[in-house]
Amino acid sequence: MLLRYSYRLYPDAPQREALAKAFGCARTVFNDALAARRAAYEAGEPYLTDAAMSARLTESKETPERAWLGEVSSVILQQALSDLNLAYRNFFNSVSGKRKGPKIAPPRFRSRKDSRQAIRFTANARFKVLGNGRLRLPKIGDVEVRWSRELPAAPSSVTVIRDAAGRFFASFVVETAPQSLPETDQECGIDLGLGHFAVLDDGTKIAAPRFLRRAEKKLKRAQRDLSRKQKGSRNREKARVKVARAYARVTDARRDFHHKLSTKVIRENQAVYVEDLTVQGLARTRLAKSVHDAGWSAFTAMLEYKAKLYGREFRKIGRFEPTSQVCSACSVKDGPKPLHVREWQCKACGTVHDRDINAARNIAALGRREARNTREGQVRPAATLAPAGEAGSLRGAA
Ligand SMILES: [Zn+2]
Repeated sequence: MLLRYSYRLYPDAPQREALAKAFGCARTVFNDALAARRAAYEAGEPYLTDAAMSARLTESKETPERAWLGEVSSVILQQALSDLNLAYRNFFNSVSGKRKGPKIAPPRFRSRKDSRQAIRFTANARFKVLGNGRLRLPKIGDVEVRWSRELPAAPSSVTVIRDAAGRFFASFVVETAPQSLPETDQECGIDLGLGHFAVLDDGTKIAAPRFLRRAEKKLKRAQRDLSRKQKGSRNREKARVKVARAYARVTDARRDFHHKLSTKVIRENQAVYVEDLTVQGLARTRLAKSVHDAGWSAFTAMLEYKAKLYGREFRKIGRFEPTSQVCSACSVKDGPKPLHVREWQCKACGTVHDRDINAARNIAALGRREARNTREGQVRPAATLAPAGEAGSLRGAA
């Protein structure tokens, strides 16, 4: 499977200048191609093919207005075109319904002011990790890298990124062979908690770590300061940089937290089940949870690839019945619960439930049932909660 490995880069001043030029060239190629496709569309002409766009790029480099594109590696220009082609494909597939999930917007123009600038070198570009630990980038130079962990194999491409805080990263794509962990009979259902980041079906509640909450607070303060500064003033520019740095720290801390937690969960469990928040309407019915959504999808994406990498089972449970309304002990639907109700007693069997733990248990039960059905070769049914007779398989339910 293909995995990304990211490392901090420390380009010197001339290299930063060369990178800025490369970002600019890639942006220009992307924007020229987007403008051409839009113009064709508005003139009622057919969609310009990928090959046609590539030919146009070659021609434009011969013109005096675009001759400067020849000063950077041609691979990054071709890659900027493939970014645009992919963005269009995703958009078309989203419109036609071929691609599931939230609707995708058509590609938009890139700007010098975008918080993320990126260029991609493929193997064709002959980028190279040198014996002295530096990364050789064509027409940029030999850039210093902080190797926080080892690259497991030779990378097939590298994306060089500058973030809003002005930091540089190299993100390598590496083909990684699955590694197996010792088997275990532990399984785990995870719910997105109301007051917690995640709640496990064994009753564990996991809060975001203190350093992350502190970084988030600092970011909020910096954003407030920025909104008070006058537009165009020097102080505003300073405040903007401060916000970008605080934002970068939050993103890093959050990613780190997600990595540690997802690795732990995958190591300790043979199968992991989570609720699928992309099920339509769910996010809206659970407004209080939606603040976590961005973090939640990044976290579940990590669980998914780590499960694949380590030979574990991972399932997203889409469902029609809210798991918070059903008793995990006797499977009776107890009715809607307002968000402030944290604990409730089942009218049918009398079990007292913590709202989030009960939901996590229901997710685990649904996950087990789907997994069993798949193993038995049945058609995957629409997820509904197990009838009363099957509730005995729930861990911790008595
Ligand atoms: Zn009950």
